[in-house]
Amino acid sequence: MFSVVMYHHINSDDLLLSNSDSMMDAHLALIAQRYITFFPGEEIRENSICLTFDDAYYDFYHYVFPLLQKYNLKALLAVPTAYILEDTDINPAKRLSLKHHNIYENFKEFAPFCTYMELREMIRSGHVAIASHSTNHVDLTQEGIDLNEEIVDSKHLLEEKLGFRVDSFVLPYGKYNDAAVKLAREHYPYVFRIGNAINPSWKGIGGLIYRVKGDTLTTPDALFMPLKQFGFLFKTLIKLIKR
Ligand SMILES: [Zn+2]
Repeated sequence: MFSVVMYHHINSDDLLLSNSDSMMDAHLALIAQRYITFFPGEEIRENSICLTFDDAYYDFYHYVFPLLQKYNLKALLAVPTAYILEDTDINPAKRLSLKHHNIYENFKEFAPFCTYMELREMIRSGHVAIASHSTNHVDLTQEGIDLNEEIVDSKHLLEEKLGFRVDSFVLPYGKYNDAAVKLAREHYPYVFRIGNAINPSWKGIGGLIYRVKGDTLTTPDALFMPLKQFGFLFKTLIKLIKR
């Protein structure tokens, strides 16, 4: 059994999708003491944990990547390809300056996402693996969505641009229907959703890997308190029994 944790921003104005840089530093220090971080498909050990960061915001490169190096940790970064620029000369302060709700529409002028140059550097370090998070970061259950463009084209583009095998898909907003899951499972061994459960294996539960919410931490060890862990375990058992 192992947990997968889902994070988004660092120091964002959207507090529901963010932790402060100091909280993330303390949290990752604690994870380095107690757990072994791993990438999808790697051998599961008693204290394995998988860290995932959604949307590839520039704040990941700016704040989290140095911490992964400092504490020798691994994390999976979920990338929506339509917002990724090859490179940028916009300065870090400007790239970090957007409010969360302005990020998608202003991505060309502010470069608030990691660039392909930065993604390649992080892959080379061995601390970061890349997942597809669709092309346009859309709710895949909406009518008129081209699932092939969102799920299959994003994988091929990332693999071509990064020279890295992309075997994980992170469902945008955690939303899915049968058609989206079927297509994702045909192209990726590892498909991630959101949900307060832990995973018996890399097959997840019903073919989907569950991720617990790591944003808005109140203390560095909030996720690992016995009551919280018991809650995750309890919900996992219910899901396994219901299947
Ligand atoms: Zn997302």
